[in-house]
Amino acid sequence: MATQGVSAKKRFEKPKKAYRKVAKYQQYEKNVRQDYAHQTSHHLVANDAYDLYVFEALKIQTMTKRPQAKTDAQGRFLPNKATAKAGLNRAILSSAWGPVVSFTTYKALRQGKLVITVPPAYSSQECAVCTFTSPDNRPSQAAFVCQRCGHTDHADHNAAVVIAKRGIQKLLSGDPLTKAHKTTRIFRKLGPERSEVTPGEIG
Ligand SMILES: [Zn+2]
Repeated sequence: MATQGVSAKKRFEKPKKAYRKVAKYQQYEKNVRQDYAHQTSHHLVANDAYDLYVFEALKIQTMTKRPQAKTDAQGRFLPNKATAKAGLNRAILSSAWGPVVSFTTYKALRQGKLVITVPPAYSSQECAVCTFTSPDNRPSQAAFVCQRCGHTDHADHNAAVVIAKRGIQKLLSGDPLTKAHKTTRIFRKLGPERSEVTPGEIG
């Protein structure tokens, strides 16, 4: 029997199939991320050389917010690097930062090790040796050159030392370590901070 056009049934079948396909990929992506977070956290905690792990308390929600639309005097839209930001958002989310921190925390606790988080502000601009903080300390994405004491290092390594020092300071300060307490700190405006998160960098 010949039918004219597309039957209602057929019309609804196609999208359903597409939705299932998308859902399948989303589930796959989630599995990959979980798997990655489990492997990374295991790798970190299994290393007998370390008893203390310090993470930057990255505010994933703020970092992944869409950038504000920019308009010129006539109200026309200007490029606001939304596409670049979208790529960065994906990188942050897919880097599974949150799960890596939480998995490391519980796995470490099981072995009597400690995980703490510290404020991330300007960790990429601060000198690990003399604490001088300036965007000028970063002549490029990879390089750190302190404009006060001349200390040079790979920018990621310098930032890691800064974060570790902040962790030790927090440990020694007697502040509560596990419960996130809300404090407002005013940091001197030092110019835009480069994000250090790139896919595959952690671990
Ligand atoms: Zn310095």
